[in-house]
Amino acid sequence: MPKFYIQTYGCQMNVYESGVVRRVLSDAGFTETTDEHDADVLLMMTCSVRSHAEQRALGRLGTFRALRSERVGRVVGVLGCMAQRFADALVTDHRADIVVGPDEYLRLPELIARVQAGTTGLVATRQTSECYDAVMPRPDNPVSAFVTVMRGCDNYCTYCIVPHVKGRERSRPQASVMAEAVRHADSGVKDITLLGQNVLAYRDGTRRFPDLLRAVASALPRVRIRFLTSHPRDLDSSLLETMQRLPNVCPSLHLPVQSGSNPILERMNRGYTREEYLAKVALCREVLPEVCLTTDVLVGFPSETEADFKATLDLIEQVQFDFAYMFRFSFRPGTRAGEFRPKVSEADGGRRLARLIEVQNRITAESNRGMLNKELELLIEGPSPRDTGWLGRTVTNKIVIVKGRCAPGDKVRCRVTRINGWTPVAELPARAAATVTG
Ligand code: SF4
Repeated sequence: MPKFYIQTYGCQMNVYESGVVRRVLSDAGFTETTDEHDADVLLMMTCSVRSHAEQRALGRLGTFRALRSERVGRVVGVLGCMAQRFADALVTDHRADIVVGPDEYLRLPELIARVQAGTTGLVATRQTSECYDAVMPRPDNPVSAFVTVMRGCDNYCTYCIVPHVKGRERSRPQASVMAEAVRHADSGVKDITLLGQNVLAYRDGTRRFPDLLRAVASALPRVRIRFLTSHPRDLDSSLLETMQRLPNVCPSLHLPVQSGSNPILERMNRGYTREEYLAKVALCREVLPEVCLTTDVLVGFPSETEADFKATLDLIEQVQFDFAYMFRFSFRPGTRAGEFRPKVSEADGGRRLARLIEVQNRITAESNRGMLNKELELLIEGPSPRDTGWLGRTVTNKIVIVKGRCAPGDKVRCRVTRINGWTPVAELPARAAATVTG
């Protein structure tokens, strides 16, 4: 049987889409290997959100090419956002054999066969309304799984490449999402994340995202249900009230703010003001007092002044996010932000990012310290890195290291007894069997 190896860069959507590729190839008779030296087909799922991610992928492509030269007939393929963005250049300048955009993964077996038959430099980057409804992705984690509910984005934030490479918003039918979620639950998955570039844009006839969330959570009452990502503009009380009523929907929301300054938010085309964002945060905390809030922040956006940056820091202090993904602006050719002036210098952008990280790290550490002595329900996902115990996830999506006897997929209740650096550590009581709910 031919073997494939796949490396995934980027966001959870890419993790999911690698699962789609795994299924497409295994249905076509391939087996997966985790050893790149053993593979007949070397694939990488790429990300174009930042220039750094692209550079890393191009570096790795060099390794793939070197491996190709060691075995006759070995195929090198680039998938995902970079495939869509660079298309032919990945063949001409970087000598990939196949280049396959996000809507063309069903063609992979055919493209691989054509390369093995002697044709090289095949580029498949047609943009369609593909949602891979008929493909049951093969996740690589037996405890948690992603289920995509919509693909693409119509928001055109001025810094973002996603609408250009992933295409227009389109939703999967509710029945198809339900079928995939139920199959995961039947195979033992305990934690499902509904995914989309903006899940709150979900539409299936008159059904909206709260309807879908209710349907999935009610059908799978023993499975934790989460979702990612929510555009703040589209968040409303109907979603929060739905979350409040469903005990297995996790009280955690990722609500990317990007900036705390109104002029910058406007130039980013985010569709909300600072005041509107803060009002939504207040509503979240009123309806879901235990909610864990996380965010994305971008500093050094063209024309950002020190006053704009201070407004962002002020918002960060005000909201007290549990965690934030923080980045310096990275210009993506083809997006509108490149036209804006003045640019922020590398030095100023770097300094602002360092300051932001310092502030948010303090807040995250304080939030984690607040978990000390609390008894929590944790889902065990697997061994922790460096084998220091088990990796447990709270309903609020925080990671806790668990010491004691348990196994992946167990739900355990235990108390956080110390904080190691930033990481909460919990001990399972000796009578662990009584605390494990399976
Ligand atoms: S909402 Fe904005 S940042 Fe998010 S994927 Fe769409 S365009 Fe990009």
